[in-house]
Amino acid sequence: MTTAHDLAARFGPALDTRPETLHEAAQDFGHLVRAEPLGVLRPRSAAEIAALLEFAGPRGIPVSVRGGGHSMYGQGQAGGGIVLDLRALNRVGPVADGQVTVQAGALWREVLAATLPHGRTPPVLTDYLGAGVGGVLSAGGLGGAGHRHGLVADQVLELEVVTGAGEHRVCSPDRDPELFHCVLAGLGQCAVLVAVTLRLVPAPTRIRRYCLYYADLTRYLTDQRRLAEEQRFAYLEGQARPAGAQGWQYMIEAVAPHAGTYPPDDATLLDGLAHDPAAVETEDLEHGEFARRVDTDEEVLRATGEWHHPHPWLNLLLPQDSAESVVRAVLADPAFADLRDTGLVLLYPLLSDRLRAPLFRRPPGRVLYLLALLRTGEPGSPEKAAAMVAANRAAYELARAQGAVAYPVNALPMTDADWRDHYGSAWPALADAKRRHDPHLVLARGHGMRF
Ligand SMILES: Cc1cc2nc3c(=O)[nH]c(=O)nc-3n(C[C@H](O)[C@H](O)[C@H](O)COP(=O)(O)OP(=O)(O)OC[C@H]3O[C@@H](n4cnc5c(N)ncnc54)[C@H](O)[C@@H]3O)c2cc1C
Repeated sequence: MTTAHDLAARFGPALDTRPETLHEAAQDFGHLVRAEPLGVLRPRSAAEIAALLEFAGPRGIPVSVRGGGHSMYGQGQAGGGIVLDLRALNRVGPVADGQVTVQAGALWREVLAATLPHGRTPPVLTDYLGAGVGGVLSAGGLGGAGHRHGLVADQVLELEVVTGAGEHRVCSPDRDPELFHCVLAGLGQCAVLVAVTLRLVPAPTRIRRYCLYYADLTRYLTDQRRLAEEQRFAYLEGQARPAGAQGWQYMIEAVAPHAGTYPPDDATLLDGLAHDPAAVETEDLEHGEFARRVDTDEEVLRATGEWHHPHPWLNLLLPQDSAESVVRAVLADPAFADLRDTGLVLLYPLLSDRLRAPLFRRPPGRVLYLLALLRTGEPGSPEKAAAMVAANRAAYELARAQGAVAYPVNALPMTDADWRDHYGSAWPALADAKRRHDPHLVLARGHGMRF
């Protein structure tokens, strides 16, 4: 059995084994599970990542990658193994010819900070820009421009990776496409992302943001689908919000680019929709200010301490046919009553034919809805946290029975059978790729997938 001593002998002082480092690497944004590694390595090159994997593989030492550290349920932890902290691999740029190459340990806010001065942006961004480039691409990456452009991962032109076998490779849709397609939305199972070349599009200077309110879920979902299909807006998301003692209201959040001297035509954009016309809210913002909007929430939650509380989050992708019944069931479930006080419920549409990464699982049908149940637990109450995770599991089973799949960035225990069900017909190809690229099965065990 490999010990910390063997690792120290091989990697010397580069292996950080200080108690405070191991304590930090044993947790994540979810604050629900802990697994302490033997050490943390902070590579500065692909060669250093390859050297670790060549050593760890034959010895069966688990290796997990940590970028932004926003896993919910130990996905980025490596109990008894090594955490590769990629934050030092965070070079971005230069921006040229409508693209940018970024190292995978960069955060999305660092990417945007480099592209906006050139008037460019990645076509799709997640709501929160503090997550890591590698972390988002390994999940897929959903955002308000998804109904037009697909996943964040669909904007990747080329990847530089180190496979679980320690091979340093470059791949793209034309060059080694099999490796390319098992890395994007592949939950880090086959390779460590080192650098990524992203497609960029012109960024608007200003945007107009509309909030449209609905008392009725059926009308909300109908309008959401219509707006997605007609692509009236550049960005389309929405929320369920508590209203009254037990009720809910729904809010479409839609954004149109704004050229300053030519503001959007509100009447045309909102024509024929069933929202409450008396409650329309609009605001004009700089594009960058809108893209960074969650940074302000983060600052507030850090100041109150809630940023460090448990986050038993659940993200589900619902088929159009059963979206309404699943949303109604979950919002009426007493086990999710705390959504009314400490939660945020996102509910917005995507179009399946825009989501191209083959390993990104989605429910059947052309239109699907992201339902994100984002709750905050109490610190120091493991029983309550466990009950919230159990409620996630029950909601997942309820939704899955109606055709839903998980967007796998959740606080959700998944069994071997769940993972096989999740990947469905793609499972044999993923399992085959895993055995070829990570033959000792050491990478990304924190997701709980077994091959
Ligand atoms: C406040 C908040 C808002 C969010 N909003 C959105 C949203 O709008 N849309 C959305 O899609 N997601 C959203 N997420 C989820 C987020 O995208 C995922 O949790 C993502 O995986 C976090 O990446 P990270 O690098 O920060 O986390 P980490 O914990 O560092 O990484 C997560 C996992 O990604 C994999 N990984 C990370 N880096 C690499 C790499 N270089 N190579 C291979 N695998 C790697 C590993 O398996 C790791 O376990 C949000 C999360 C938070 C906390």
